[in-house]
Amino acid sequence: MAQTTENKQAGSAKKRFYRKRVRLFNLIAKIKLWPSRTGQLHGIRTIEVTGDTATLTTHCSKVFVIRNSLNSRAGRWLRNKWAVTVCPVCNVPAWKLEKYAATRFKRHHGSMLEDPTRKPCA
Ligand SMILES: [Zn+2]
Repeated sequence: MAQTTENKQAGSAKKRFYRKRVRLFNLIAKIKLWPSRTGQLHGIRTIEVTGDTATLTTHCSKVFVIRNSLNSRAGRWLRNKWAVTVCPVCNVPAWKLEKYAATRFKRHHGSMLEDPTRKPCA
């Protein structure tokens, strides 16, 4: 997967709005972060979707098999920003954390992230 050049945005992070009921796969494919059960945020290296499950590989080489549920623990954790620490091995860059911190989840407003060809704009 070719990643677009991830230039640091100068200054403050732009707020992004995603729907509360955004599908988990779409969300994590977008933000590339995964909250483990111990409250650690991992950086996702690859995500491989097979039907209704996906296999995540983190930068610290942990593998998680997850289901595309709308209401999973991970979805709640991400939306509520409950993760308390960042995995030291994954070494998630600060700009990515800032981007995540600036992301808001709204019931009636924001992108569902369903169309990969269209960029969500605030
Ligand atoms: Zn990690």
